[in-house]
Amino acid sequence: MKKMFINGEWVEARSGNTREIINPYNQEVIATVAEGNAEDAKLAIAAARNAFDHGDWRRTPGNERGKKVLHIAQLIERDKEELAELESLDTGKTVEESRADMDDIAEVFRYFAGLADKDGGEIIESPIPNSQSKVVREPVGVCGQITPWNYPLLQAAWKIAPALATGNTIVLKPSEITPLTTIKVTELMEEVGFPQGVVNLVLGEGATVGNELAESNDVDLISFTGGIITGKKIMQAASGNVKKIALELGGKNPNIVFADADFDIALDQAMNAVFFHAGQVCSAGARLLVEDSIHDRFVEALAERTKRIKLGNGFEEETQSGPLISAEHRAKVEEYVEIAKQEGAHLLVGGARPEDPELQNGFFYLPTIFTECRSDMRIVQEEVFGPVLTVERFSGEEEAVRLANDSIYGLAGAVWTTDGDKAERVASELRMGTVWINDFHPYFAQAPWGGYKQSGIGRELGKPGLEEYTETKHVLRNLKPEPINWFK
Ligand code: NAD
Repeated sequence: MKKMFINGEWVEARSGNTREIINPYNQEVIATVAEGNAEDAKLAIAAARNAFDHGDWRRTPGNERGKKVLHIAQLIERDKEELAELESLDTGKTVEESRADMDDIAEVFRYFAGLADKDGGEIIESPIPNSQSKVVREPVGVCGQITPWNYPLLQAAWKIAPALATGNTIVLKPSEITPLTTIKVTELMEEVGFPQGVVNLVLGEGATVGNELAESNDVDLISFTGGIITGKKIMQAASGNVKKIALELGGKNPNIVFADADFDIALDQAMNAVFFHAGQVCSAGARLLVEDSIHDRFVEALAERTKRIKLGNGFEEETQSGPLISAEHRAKVEEYVEIAKQEGAHLLVGGARPEDPELQNGFFYLPTIFTECRSDMRIVQEEVFGPVLTVERFSGEEEAVRLANDSIYGLAGAVWTTDGDKAERVASELRMGTVWINDFHPYFAQAPWGGYKQSGIGRELGKPGLEEYTETKHVLRNLKPEPINWFK
C-alpha cells in the first residue's frame, strides 16, 4: 500500500481507509493507496507551518535551494522510464507521450532551480533624505497545491519547483484517481533530502483534503489546477484568511484557420490540437474556426483522417490515443454529444464508443466531429474535455476574432495564416493567455502559462510562475533619523 508523506514520515491515513487505483485501459487495479481526509490534511498543514515558521528552509541561500531543486530534475531523469510507465498505467496515455512529459518535467525543475539565486532584490530611489530603500522578494509561506488527473506529474511540477526554489513549504494533493507519479516524486524529494516538514503529501478527495487546504487559516497560498466549478469553490473557501490564490482552470480554445494558411500543416495540427491525449488537455483546440472558402474541403479531409486514429493500449507502439480517464468522465462526454445533437449540430464523425472487442474494458470513446456549429450552442461554449471537435465557419478577420473571443474562457488559441501582419493583428485581439501563430500546443518552462477571463488567476511557468510564490517587501532604512515634531 502506498502511503502519505507527512512531516518527513510515510504514514497511513488516520482512518485506515484506502483506495484502489484503476488502469483506465482495462479497469485492472494497479495500486492501493492511503485515502486521507481533513484530519490528515490538518497534520500535514501543521508540519508545513512548523517547518516554515521555525525551520531554516526559508532562510537557506538561493543557490543551496537551487541545488536541491536541480537534484530533483536529475532523479527524474534517472527514473524516467519508471515514471513514464507509471503515468501511462494511471492515465491511459501513450508511453511515448509520458516520456515526453517526463522530459518536460525535468526541464521545469531545472529552469526553476536556475532562478533560485537570481533575484537579490532591488535598490530603489528613495525621496526620503538620508535613507536607503530596497525591495526584496520573500517566500509566501505554507502552500497548498492541488492538481488534476490529465497531466498529473506535469501539473505538480509546475507548482513544486517554483515553491521550493523560493523557500516555501508545501502540502501536495494530487487527484485522487491519479496519484502514483506524485507519490513517486515525493519519494525522490525524500531522497534529495529536504528539511523535515518542507515537503508533505496528502492523498484523498477534493471535498475533504482539498477543501481543508483551501479553507485552513494556516495555509498562506492555494495553487489549484482543475475545473472551473471547483476553482470557484476554492476561491470561496480561501476567503476566510484571504490567502493568495493561483488558479489554472479550463479552456475552450479556438483554432482559427484562414483560407491562406498552409492547408496540410494546418490540417495535421488541427487533429493534434484536439485529439491529443483524447482531448483531455486544458489547452485542447476543441473549437475549430475555418474560413468559408476552404471550409468544406478542410472538414472533409479532417473527417477522413479522424476515422483513421488508432485507439488502444498506451503501451503498444501503434496506439495513437488511449482511453478517457474514467467511466464518469466518459458519461460526461456522452452527455455533451447528446446535447450537441439536440442543439442541431451535425455529427460528422464518431459520436459513439468503439466497437473493437479489445477496447471494451477501457473507457474509450471515438474521436468525434460536429459541423454546422454556432457560437451560442453549449457544445461550443462549454469545456467537454474529451475527443470532441466543433467546427464553425467564418468570413474574414473581424468575424474570426469576434467568434474566438465569444467565450467565458481565455486560456489559449491559435491562428493559421501565411499573412504575417494578419497573424499579428489577430493575435493582439485575442483575449487569451497564450496565442500560437502557425502552431498549436507548445508550452515550455521559460514562458508563462495561464488564462484570461474565467480560465484562471495568475501564471505558472516563466518568471511570473516564480513570482506567484513570493511576497514583495519594501524595506526603508533611515540613516539619519530626525524628529518630525508633528505632534508638538
Ligand atoms: P477537478 O476540478 O475535478 O479536480 C482537480 C483537483 O481538485 C483534484 O485534485 C480534486 O480532488 C480537487 N478538488 C475537487 N473538489 C475540490 C474542492 N471542493 N476543494 C478543493 N479541491 C477539490 O478537475 P479534474 O477533473 O481533475 O481536471 C480537469 C480540469 O482541469 C479541466 O477543467 C481542465 O481544463 C483543467 N486543467 C487546467 C489546466 C490549466 O493549466 N489551465 C491544466 C490541466 C487541467
